[in-house]
Amino acid sequence: MSTEGQKVRLATVWLDGCSGCHMSLLDLDERLVTLAERADLVFSPLVDAKEFPDNVDVTLVEGAVSSEEDDEKIRLVRRRTKTLVSLGDCAVTGNVPSMRNPYDVGAVLQRAYIENARPDSKVPTEVVPRLLARVRPVHEVVKVDVFIPGCPPSADTIFYALSELVEGRNPDLTVRTRFGV
Ligand code: SF4
Repeated sequence: MSTEGQKVRLATVWLDGCSGCHMSLLDLDERLVTLAERADLVFSPLVDAKEFPDNVDVTLVEGAVSSEEDDEKIRLVRRRTKTLVSLGDCAVTGNVPSMRNPYDVGAVLQRAYIENARPDSKVPTEVVPRLLARVRPVHEVVKVDVFIPGCPPSADTIFYALSELVEGRNPDLTVRTRFGV
């Protein structure tokens, strides 16, 4: 992945998730400094970058694919990333966002914007991205190389996975995630 002395180009993206996986990433605390010795964060909701760059080595994806915007974004991210990582259960399985899958989009919008809002509310037709008929885990849309389950995955698990990835190794998460470490 990275050649000797070169820093890994790391990104994180956020699709349909609650931000909890990014909060768990921030829980690495001072270990973020350790990682920063090996990786540059080139795109993330945590930094002020507007456009997803080319030639990213590792991208962590939080959240499921729920809207046309998510679908477009994850396909672009995949094209520009060498190792794509599904971070957390929403990305890995669909988890909470996919609880709307038994209902059609019209019923979901009606519930969110009319029944649970003021009587004069309307379903938005602009600005809010159009929902897909079905929420999908990331690997149903693009190829995923590494899966980190958990809701959210613990900071220890994320640190272990990133420590391996920045060294160009595939993390073995079978034991860690089973015991919630
Ligand atoms: S996996 Fe859990 S913590 Fe992460 S985005 Fe989904 S609901 Fe939030």
